[in-house]
Amino acid sequence: MTLHIEKTTTSKISKVDFSNLSFGQEFTDHMFECDYIDGTWQTPKILPYAPLTLDPSAKVFHYGQAVFEGMKAYKSDDDEIWMFRPDQNQKRINISAERLGMPAFPKELFFDGLNNLLKLDNEWIKKGEGNSLYIRPFIIATESCVSASISDSYKFMIICSPVQSYYAGEVRVIIEDKYSRSANGGVGYAKAAGNYAGSFYPTKLAREKGFQQVIWTDSCSHEYLEEAGVMNVFFRVNNTLLTAPTSERILDGITRKSIVQLCEHEGINIEVRPVKVSEIMEAARKGELLEMFGAGTAAVISPILGFSHHDESFELPKVADSYATYIKKRITDIQQHKAEDIFGWTYKVN
Ligand SMILES: *Cc1c(COP(=O)(O)O)cnc(C)c1O
Repeated sequence: MTLHIEKTTTSKISKVDFSNLSFGQEFTDHMFECDYIDGTWQTPKILPYAPLTLDPSAKVFHYGQAVFEGMKAYKSDDDEIWMFRPDQNQKRINISAERLGMPAFPKELFFDGLNNLLKLDNEWIKKGEGNSLYIRPFIIATESCVSASISDSYKFMIICSPVQSYYAGEVRVIIEDKYSRSANGGVGYAKAAGNYAGSFYPTKLAREKGFQQVIWTDSCSHEYLEEAGVMNVFFRVNNTLLTAPTSERILDGITRKSIVQLCEHEGINIEVRPVKVSEIMEAARKGELLEMFGAGTAAVISPILGFSHHDESFELPKVADSYATYIKKRITDIQQHKAEDIFGWTYKVN
């Protein structure tokens, strides 16, 4: 299917201050879109970035049938555009879509749209430390009808936002023992919009108590640590890193699995197994809990400075040679094409 391209006549790029970006607020000049109607994906299009017109009864507004992805593109010093494991995002959006009863978006269309969009908005991808383009593919249910049933039409889109290195500020977390992000048999493993909607209220309560995020525990017993906000989570006890295995409740993060692979390759001791709240509390009391961090595309690694559970609060020590700093540098160097890509993770846009 040939991609239809309509270029903008008025670029916004001169109005953007690239040295002072807030995460996800500015968008590039173009967007990719493809509609699913009568059982087939229609002609894919790249259009000038603009608001959508949807019927107020479109099912996405009522039943939350929506999935998304988050990935990044970088510009190397010799002006090439590189992405980090986009094949993984392409697969995952279809895994998410299936769980929400949505049609898969074909791989060829995904990459054709992505490559062309990035080439067209090439000027928006800046070189240099910390600069990247955050890319947001998503699929929404567009059928105009409020009957509570599966939609018969969808829209797949990709929009892009220039970003600088993401700093979440000082992060202290509460280990959640009441609310859950996901449950067995639910949609936790899917990047479904509704998972985020459900996490905002518990996060708001945590903020009111002076914390920035929550650490989710399993919905049955609240005894096992699962994710940190919308990131996967790692704990360093002495010189061992711990992270939970993915499950139907835990999102299979691409940053997470890259960290696991990197550590295994570099001989950093890492255990992928269920992590108990009680063992982390015990390690913290003994001074053996050295680091905690979240892992996800936006920040790569986001260190956690302290945490609270029931009546106990801990500050993590300031360790020299932190694993978080080391791993983040190894991964971002590969992403930005400054270090050899021994794992075959990077993808050249062309
Ligand atoms: C997106 C997401 C992550 C991180 O996944 P990456 O592929 O590393 O960006 C982790 N947990 C949740 C719940 C997420 O939605």
